[in-house]
Amino acid sequence: MNTARLWEEAEAQLPGALEWLRRMVECNSFSGNAEGVNAVGTLTAAMFEPLGFRAERVRPAEPNRGDHWVLARPARGGPRVGLVSHLDTVFPPEEEQRNGFRWCREGDRIYGPGTVDNKGGTVAMFLMLQVLRRGAPEWFERVDWTLLFNGAEEVLSPDFGRLARGRLAGAAAALVFEGGQRRGEAWTLVTSRKGRAVFRIRVEGRGAHAGTRPERGANAVVQLAETVLRAARVTDWERSRSVNVGWIRGGTAVNRVPEEAEAEVEMRALDPAVFAEGKAALLALAGIGGVRARADGHPCRVCVDLLQEMPPWPDQESTERLFRSWETAGHELGWAVERETRGGLSDANYLWDLVPTLDGLGPVGDNAHCSERSPDGSKEPEYVLAGSFVPKTVLNALALVRWLEAQQGVRPGRGC
Ligand SMILES: [Zn+2]
Repeated sequence: MNTARLWEEAEAQLPGALEWLRRMVECNSFSGNAEGVNAVGTLTAAMFEPLGFRAERVRPAEPNRGDHWVLARPARGGPRVGLVSHLDTVFPPEEEQRNGFRWCREGDRIYGPGTVDNKGGTVAMFLMLQVLRRGAPEWFERVDWTLLFNGAEEVLSPDFGRLARGRLAGAAAALVFEGGQRRGEAWTLVTSRKGRAVFRIRVEGRGAHAGTRPERGANAVVQLAETVLRAARVTDWERSRSVNVGWIRGGTAVNRVPEEAEAEVEMRALDPAVFAEGKAALLALAGIGGVRARADGHPCRVCVDLLQEMPPWPDQESTERLFRSWETAGHELGWAVERETRGGLSDANYLWDLVPTLDGLGPVGDNAHCSERSPDGSKEPEYVLAGSFVPKTVLNALALVRWLEAQQGVRPGRGC
């Protein structure tokens, strides 16, 4: 394949693609703003429509969220390839307004909500397909493309995970277009991510008058304080497991022995066994607590509920093979490509055990989830580097074709 042709094509398409990005960024799509998320979904469908993609909206499990979108360009007998991005952002409209956070280009940087997380990723996906259509039309036509857009990625949506797994079973690859990074001159791609489990800890004690009958009280706040310290000690830095006690509340008035208290805790780990062990240790905090009423030994009771769980995406062979295709394409282009492990979650966590999965294919940027700017420059909001779209597109297009060529004959016709 002619890489110079791919490069020319990517450069020619960039201004149009950035115009789409501007339109998406100017449309607030906070996860809680279903209307805005749907408007960005509509823009996304319109962007891909001229490439022959048909849109399908899928209602999310949570009624107050925006839709998930599936855009498909079916091809009989060709390998299926899944491309994944998300429509929502973490910024409520009031916050954007308060901080004057909007589309703003300064040199190579484009600031704005979702520029790198993850509207830039959606546009990088579009650029890759445009470039393949012109530069490798036989593959563009042969591949059974399935584009998946999560309407509520920032708040985690297990129903999107189920949707993506249903559509991508048997696919040749799942490519997740979260933002990538540079490490010196090298491009990094995400090849593993930690998993996360979220727990609520509730303590039920016994209330009492703090002046007249303190010995009757079983203090839920004291019990919870002991319990969250034990939870925090489930952290194991050597084995990359961390526990964060995120918030805590309890009691009502200072003249009462508090009868209830609660906290939320999250645990993250990379290795599935270390993850499972941490989860078991946190669930084991439930039961009769050590804090009791002096009068009759009435104990506090500790309840632990698992609220949410996303499995780790550990290093493993199918991702490694896919990564090596990107690494080889990088060599062809004269660039180093390196592996990156992230503590944050993405839709790749749902897919890696089903389909060869690679993440971080989006453009390069920084300060995701930050909308503030301070005059001294110590705070800067989210931005994407405009100059990263073309090289990343050429890399993605070339590497994907190399991967599909390598699959040919090995798994003919899979995924149709
Ligand atoms: Zn994000």
